[in-house]
Formats: sequence, structure tokens, C-alpha cells
Amino acid sequence: MDQLIEWDKKHFIHPTSSIRDQQEKGAKVIFEKGEGIYLTDKNGKKYIDAMSSLWNVNIGHGRKELGEAARQQMDQLAFSSAFSTFSHEPTIQLAKKIADLAPSNLNAIFFTSGGSESNDSAFKLVRHYWRIQGQPERNKIVSLKRGYHGVAAGATSATGIPEFWDMAGQLQSGFVHAATPYWEGTQGSIKSIREVIEAEGPETIAAFIAEPIQGAGGVLVPPSDYFQEIRKLCDDYGIVFIADEVITGFGRTGTMFGLEHSGVQPDMMTFAKGVTSGYFPLGGVIVSDQIHGVLKEKSMGTLFHGFTYSGHPTAAAVALKNIEIIEKEGLVENSRKMGELLLEGFKKLKADLQIIGDVRGVGLLGAVELMEDPSANKRFSPELKVAGKVIEALHQRGVICRAVAYEGTDIICFSPPLVIKEEEVKTLLEKLREAISEVAQELS
Ligand code: PLP
Repeated sequence: MDQLIEWDKKHFIHPTSSIRDQQEKGAKVIFEKGEGIYLTDKNGKKYIDAMSSLWNVNIGHGRKELGEAARQQMDQLAFSSAFSTFSHEPTIQLAKKIADLAPSNLNAIFFTSGGSESNDSAFKLVRHYWRIQGQPERNKIVSLKRGYHGVAAGATSATGIPEFWDMAGQLQSGFVHAATPYWEGTQGSIKSIREVIEAEGPETIAAFIAEPIQGAGGVLVPPSDYFQEIRKLCDDYGIVFIADEVITGFGRTGTMFGLEHSGVQPDMMTFAKGVTSGYFPLGGVIVSDQIHGVLKEKSMGTLFHGFTYSGHPTAAAVALKNIEIIEKEGLVENSRKMGELLLEGFKKLKADLQIIGDVRGVGLLGAVELMEDPSANKRFSPELKVAGKVIEALHQRGVICRAVAYEGTDIICFSPPLVIKEEEVKTLLEKLREAISEVAQELS
């Protein structure tokens, strides 16, 4: 163990982690095994993975069928490129499957290795789409504050959380941010987007991108009419609407895709995470028939955009098996049902514990927001790191969750595997009650 911790410090630069914490305290946990909603570390301690790791292990840990699907595919054809129109069956099958599941107007898919690559690909595709129609000036992307779209160059620039901007030194040009509907309401956000568009010049706007529910920003659920208004606004200005379904896709919110709750069809959709439940890196962009039509008609020569792993046969085989499990085991429906239980439990906690300001959730994507005085909408002082303390108290009790503390908020996020059972939801809620009560006591 000591040797592993030493090598981790010396040789492993962790993603989105504090290098100082790593050097002072070593790796927080070294996991060894996963099964269902549980992870076990090298010391044998068992944890509820209440985040599905990074909102992605939708079918839960330890599903042997996915390993088997990968092994069979690797035995037969582990990899061959999809450049220059070379193809192979698993990716063709997966493209057809995803087209069948996605909104009816979205039928053609560009594959990537993850969410950030998917969003950067969407931005390049949409700019290409305008250029080949003789409108090269349409190149700006509008996104929402508190939105998270990943860490590649374009995705970082579209992300509306300033903490992620520093490392880039400078955002890419052509990215502008507007108010989130969570705090500003539908009309406030729409007004802000209109102002941004008018200030930039509508003829320069290529696309608007948003998550159906802002995940990493703190599980910020928009008002129910929001995306209908967004659809209208995008149509008014002739702007492409990109739905970032990287978290909300593949059952997370109790529907196959998050936008289904609004009954709205986007023009492009990006996905990753739940498509393979994290068993293999994979993502993609689905484009509308209209956009695909323009590409087919006007995109001459080579599309100079492709990752080595765009259309990876083993990733596709894993995704197909993962989707088969989601469908066969009714995991979308389970997400809806268990999500209702979880939200009901959150509401009971809010009634009993004074420091809970807001609770929210759609399917198995939920959050509990802590406040010093909810009746006055007064937040805790950021130095108290209240959400961080609750996460630590949960960790002690064997529950892994995530705190979001941007802009002085204290939000505890939940995104458990879609296979979670009623008893497990109850245990999770009990542990949450204990953890919040402990921290509330400490603060009083
Ligand atoms: N978009 C959303 C909504 C996400 O939540 C994430 C990751 O959390 C990304 C994009 C980026 O995905 P990746 O980390 O696979 O690049």
C-alpha cells in the first residue's frame, strides 16, 4: 500500500484533483473492486458509489457481460480505423441503435472517445455546416453560466464555470455565456440569451448549447417550459440547438434522453458516459436529418475532423451490450421509480433538517442544497466549506458523493447507478441524514 501511495504521488497527475492534497495526504482511496452500486477499496472498505463514479456507471459495476462483449470483439477485431470510409459492423450497428433511440429527427452519428471531444466536434461540425452554406460569419457559440461541457479547448470555452477557465489561460474566441434558468427563471435566461445574441449580432451566432439539467454546475433543474422557449428562440434566429446529453443520456433522468421531459427536439445532441456505462471510453454527436442533408449535399472533399478512436469497434461492442442491458432490465423505468423515492426522501430530510435549503431531482440525478438560513435564502460563508464537510461525513460512512461549491453554493450531488434498489435508496438516505445532522451540530 505504502509503495502504491508513494508511486501515485510521484508519477500520477490526477484529473480535476488538488495536487497539494495528493502530495500531503496521498491518494484518497485506492479502489480494487466494483459490484452493483458498490466500490471496495484495497483495505476492504465498501462504499456506496452514489455518483456512479462520474455520473457514468449507469448499469452499475462488475457486469461481466460487458467484459465478455469486449473480449469477443477484441478476439475478432480489436481495432481498425474508420477513416477514409473504412467501416466495421459493431459501429454500424451502434449508429443504427442510437439513431433508433434518439429523437426521431436525429439519425446520423459522429463518434468520439468522450464528452469533451463530442462537444468540440459539435462546434466544428456546426461551424462547417454554416461555412458550406456560405455563412462563415456564423461561428459563435452561446452557452449558459454554470453549464459544464468538458475540458477540451472548445468545451472549456463553452463551460460557464470560471474555475475551469484559468488553466486555459485564455478562452477560445467566439464563445459567449448567458444566464442560467435555474436562478433567473425561464424568462430571465431567455432575455439574457437574446441580449447576448443581439449584442454579438444574430448573423454571427452558429449555435446554442445547454445540458437538459446542468449536472456538474450543481444539478440545476430548469423550469419545465424552458426548452420549449429555447427551441422557439433558436428557431427565431435560425440558430442550431445542441443538447449536451453527456450526463442525462441513456436513462439517467428516467427517460432515455433528458430532453424527452420537455418534448423538444434539438438539432444536435452530444453523448458519452452512460452509452458504455464507463466500461470503455466512447462518445458522439448525433445530427439532425436537416444538418446531415446539408453535409451530404455541400460538404465536398474530406471532412478534416476525426479522432483515431472515432468509431472504435470494441467500444461499440461494449456500448451495444450496455444498451441491451439498460433495455432488457428496464433500467430507465427503474431510474424513474427510484428517483421518485430518492426525491421523496430528500423532501423528508428537508422538513426535518434546518440547513437544507432546496432539494431537487429528476430520475436518478438529484441534489440537496445546504443553506445557513433557507427562509432568508442565506448561504453559508464559503470558508466553512459546509458541502465539503458533509461529503467527508458521508465518506466516513461509506458513501461517495460530490460537492459543488461554486459561487458560494453548498450542493451535494447524487447520481447513483440505475440498478439501485429500494433498500439501497433507503440506506443512502439514512446515511445522508446522519451526515448532515453531524455537520449541522458541528456548526451550531
Ligand atoms: N458534458 C457534460 C454535461 C459533462 O458532464 C461532461 C463531463 O462530466 C462533459 C461534457 C465532458 O465529458 P468528458 O469528461 O467525457 O470529456
